[in-house]
Amino acid sequence: MYVHVPFCVHRCGYCDFTLVAGKDHLIDDYLTALEIELNDKRAWGEFFDEDQPISVDTLYLGGGTPTHLAPLELQRLFQLLFKHFHLADDAEFTVEANPVDLTEEKIAALHNAGVNRITLGVQSFDESELQVLERDHTHETIIDGMNRLQERIDNVSLDLIFAIPGQTLEQWQSTLKHAVALNPAHLSTYCLTFEKGTSFHTRLQQGNLREADDELQRSMYAEVMEFLPANDFPQYEISSFAKPACRSRHNQVYWSGRGYFGFGPGAARYLNGGRETNHRSVSTWLKNISAGESGTAESEQLSDKDRAHERLILGLRQIDGVNVEQFSQETGYDVRELAETGIEKLISSGHLEQHESTLRLTHEGRFFADSVTLELM
Ligand code: SF4
Repeated sequence: MYVHVPFCVHRCGYCDFTLVAGKDHLIDDYLTALEIELNDKRAWGEFFDEDQPISVDTLYLGGGTPTHLAPLELQRLFQLLFKHFHLADDAEFTVEANPVDLTEEKIAALHNAGVNRITLGVQSFDESELQVLERDHTHETIIDGMNRLQERIDNVSLDLIFAIPGQTLEQWQSTLKHAVALNPAHLSTYCLTFEKGTSFHTRLQQGNLREADDELQRSMYAEVMEFLPANDFPQYEISSFAKPACRSRHNQVYWSGRGYFGFGPGAARYLNGGRETNHRSVSTWLKNISAGESGTAESEQLSDKDRAHERLILGLRQIDGVNVEQFSQETGYDVRELAETGIEKLISSGHLEQHESTLRLTHEGRFFADSVTLELM
């Protein structure tokens, strides 16, 4: 299950996520609306059962910044969630956190609610890069927060960004070293993108911001793929690296094409081949839910073939690739039946390879994961 918490202090220049910045007066309305959505059987599909709350294997609170909520607001959030479902005994319960929020009180609120995994929005350890990204934390905030956090929750993932305007390869190498020195369980690394509608995109168009060139972006990604596995963080997905047994169970649900629930503005759900996405505008979602309407903005029912196709594309994001025999048994489709021309083309260009029963990206193919997806669509 995914729950979206759409609040931040301010909007960072590169961010296009669903959120409201500096509007904490809406937190109370949001929690009330979330409770209404959790009570709405339309959001649960056929899994709605008033008498028997469902058991959830992985719960992920993302944002926005869930830890921007005050401890009492977090407690109210947890209470209303666990009125409508419960966590399985060995469930993974992840919350996205901002380093500035890691006070003793908030960490205790998270820990007491059963949170056993944190993804921390570190992005960089370099003060000038943090300023470029318009983040409100410093290198010191990260270290202090991590020290407090790891006393109670040891499964911590760090999010890092590379190809920040002005960043050199040496600065990126330094950020990776600092990250590994903090002994996290997991690392996610993302290349900065300039999404339409963000202030970074506008500044890029106006020539006020410079994008890292392709060669530097490639060197930075190559560095991640070499440095992290050499430091006991094997790569298991395009952007994800984990110590043994510390892969994100929640994200693997997405990549393996399994179903999930979604609540809150902008959240998506995928239940029995039906995909729905809630309104991305926080105010529209709030207005609709408060008026007794559904929070859903878009829905589509995927055919069996579309579901199989999507599962192939998502599965190839994972470094282990797709076991073609298992795929065919579980979906009823042969992978080549779904995308024969694309697969042959990508094998000839050296971006895909078939090794025994496994179809997977080559090392070179990982640099072009987005183009591989487009080719297989
Ligand atoms: S803190 Fe994260 S979610 Fe909030 S605006 Fe910045 S990048 Fe976006």
